[in-house]
Amino acid sequence: MRDTLVLNASFEPLSTVSLHRAVVLVLHGKAVVEHAHPGLRVRAAAVELPVPRVIRLCRYVRVPFRRHAPWSRRGVLARDQHRCAYCGRRASTVDHVVPRSQGGADSWLNTVASCAADNHRKADRTPEEAGMPLLFQPFVPTPADAMLLALRAGERSELPEWLTDRWAPAAAA
Ligand SMILES: [Zn+2]
Repeated sequence: MRDTLVLNASFEPLSTVSLHRAVVLVLHGKAVVEHAHPGLRVRAAAVELPVPRVIRLCRYVRVPFRRHAPWSRRGVLARDQHRCAYCGRRASTVDHVVPRSQGGADSWLNTVASCAADNHRKADRTPEEAGMPLLFQPFVPTPADAMLLALRAGERSELPEWLTDRWAPAAAA
């Protein structure tokens, strides 16, 4: 299912919603379409509008300040773009860098995406103990990073530059 990115009136990414929800917000005048899928139209009620990729709320919503996105397995896979931290191939599992059996936490800095084979091979060892160095260092995504990362890679590349430049995930390292 296609997700639509919701921006605050201040252009800050707030969340993603289903296409249906996005269309309802636009039809009710709560949001405007900032960026649409080229060529795609959606028919809702008696109107037709472009399929929104990004909508922006018309009124500013005050949100409690959050520095970090909450940790989740899904979030780790999205952050690492489903790339295994040990071999670079497609990852479907989440590995604890310091294993839970050694006190490793469920946290952004202690978890990486991993393919099932490497996760199994590493078992209850640290990367040093297993001789499996990390290809990249895990990082703590901001809520805005997490939102953009939650969009599929193909969808991210379709986002307008003004948005991705401003909110580019600090992933590079
Ligand atoms: Zn792997």
